[in-house]
Amino acid sequence: MGLTVLKVGGAVVENAESLARLIADFAAMEGPKVLVHGGGRSATAMATRLGIETHMVDGRRITDDDMLRVVTMVYGGLVNKRIVALLQAAGVNGLGLTGADMDIIRSHRRPPKGGIDYGWVGDVDRADGQRLASLIREGVVPVIAPLTHDGQGHLLNTNADTMAQTVACALAPYYRVSLRYAFEKRGVMRDPDDPSTLIPHITEADFERLKADGIVSGGMVPKVENALQAIRQGVGEVLIGETRIS
Ligand code: ADP
Repeated sequence: MGLTVLKVGGAVVENAESLARLIADFAAMEGPKVLVHGGGRSATAMATRLGIETHMVDGRRITDDDMLRVVTMVYGGLVNKRIVALLQAAGVNGLGLTGADMDIIRSHRRPPKGGIDYGWVGDVDRADGQRLASLIREGVVPVIAPLTHDGQGHLLNTNADTMAQTVACALAPYYRVSLRYAFEKRGVMRDPDDPSTLIPHITEADFERLKADGIVSGGMVPKVENALQAIRQGVGEVLIGETRIS
């Protein structure tokens, strides 16, 4: 049976109009499904309001004790529960989860590398696909925030694209999985500002070339890496584009 894992980026869930569109599109999607969301921009805005500075290295958030509190509140609380309430209003039986809930996704704290300590950032060790599959079989639609845990009481901030890939791979033994990365643009493009330059298909070899040429850059690099990893691990297809992908 087919199952969709939809990952939505920060810009989509943080704007009321695009969020409403996302909810409508997601509600209309047939079959079993999972939603994975980001929320980085909201976390940054909340941190600023609380007088906490945001530090990013290569687009990645340094998660010290204070920032972990902020992302836990924003990702696990505000963004996640808002999406769940909107899904319930649309007749979708959403269940908001972090990786800690039911021990769905376990990770370990990333060790400092190249002189950079990312703090409370978790690299995934394992995901409980069986547990997720049994929830889904009961008609539940998991809504997953980008937080994991280490099994020793620590929550960890984990990249949402990686969360989606992890969930898709964990469900691949049970379903034919379609993984969709939705963000504010039409897809991967030769010129990110020109939709007519959309790249319709990317292989491993294409990606190496696109990366070397600087055509795929920034947040798109880990996204495509996650996409290719998912394909290597049994996910049926990966689509990168807008929410309304057919
Ligand atoms: P998300 O919204 O899912 O968090 P990211 O911000 O991490 O997504 O990555 C998407 C961003 O990647 C786009 O907004 C764009 O600025 C950038 N990008 C880099 N290269 C490309 C490309 N070739 N095509 C489209 N977007 C690209």
